[in-house]
Amino acid sequence: MESFSLFFIYFMSLILGLVIGSFLNVVIFRTEKDMDFGGRSFCPKCKKKIVWYDNIPLLSFLWLGGKCRKCGKKIHWSYPAVEMAGSLLFLLAAFLVMNGGLNNFLSHYGTTAGLLKLFNQSPTAFNLHKFSFIATLLELVFLWSVFATSLAIFVYDLKHMLIPDSFTWMAIKIVAVFNVVSDSLLMLNIFSAKNQSLLMSVSEFAGSKTALGFNWLSEFFGIEEKTFLEKAIYLKSISGRYANTVVEGSALQGYFIDSTPGKIINFILETRTGSGLIIGLILALIFFAIVFFSKETWMGMGDVKLVFFIGFFLGALKGLIGIFLAFELGAIFGIALIVLGRAKMKTALPFGPFLLAGMLLALFVS
Ligand SMILES: [Zn+2]
Repeated sequence: MESFSLFFIYFMSLILGLVIGSFLNVVIFRTEKDMDFGGRSFCPKCKKKIVWYDNIPLLSFLWLGGKCRKCGKKIHWSYPAVEMAGSLLFLLAAFLVMNGGLNNFLSHYGTTAGLLKLFNQSPTAFNLHKFSFIATLLELVFLWSVFATSLAIFVYDLKHMLIPDSFTWMAIKIVAVFNVVSDSLLMLNIFSAKNQSLLMSVSEFAGSKTALGFNWLSEFFGIEEKTFLEKAIYLKSISGRYANTVVEGSALQGYFIDSTPGKIINFILETRTGSGLIIGLILALIFFAIVFFSKETWMGMGDVKLVFFIGFFLGALKGLIGIFLAFELGAIFGIALIVLGRAKMKTALPFGPFLLAGMLLALFVS
């Protein structure tokens, strides 16, 4: 993508992240007070309504000097902090999507090919660019939504050592919609008669993006299904994420042609929904056992639902990496607090923030 449009997307991400961060402050506050979400924003101290120009994310905090205009009471630092965190997370999401960071499965080019099929469009260069861009927007909105809900969970757990069910359910619903939509678009390719040529065009397009070259791909599609996976492993070792997508797409077709039980399991694991559900449920069971046997002393039911969401979102491989990193981070942080004399062995820490930090780091593992 041209550098100007990339810059535009990153800039818009920063601004939108600020606005959503500001909205999350309201959601968190009103969930704490068990209020509904209608009506204007007001100062939590003097209860007076806040005029629109005093309600601009970050900027208003700065020009009001961090104080309410009406009563002069200090505005808590967590408000601008959440806005800035939202801004940075939205930028990070854009960076990940623009660099194929969501393509751990078939997602991007499977979605692109599926959209072409759905709208009955031929894979011309123009259409490929157009539908690839639509797929990118879809991924961007998805990752922004996941990051926004995660930020709300992070802040709430940090403040109250509690994760509201409504937050986790919202996160799970967002992932469910995206997983099912992208898998459906993928299936549309695999189960349709003309999928081979369509998928080839899209693969070619994907390949050209990584300078893999058409020769590679045509040779790749010419070989027998038996050697598919060997070739796939080799291609994976020498090429970037976009090529992975092509390789996995071809491998998927291979799985479908030869439907022995082992291949069907592999096939399920290649889909976002299948992989996510399996690892989400396994993680939730393990965490439930920990909560049950430790009698909620160092983890709660909120964490059980949270790890289901993380597994459902990240899928098998990254899901496990994310949880592993969460335990590492928790241990390092806990030891650091004890060494610095800020905590004792029995000081309780909320585990949700570590789980979410692990999830974020796992997204950067390819
Ligand atoms: Zn006030």
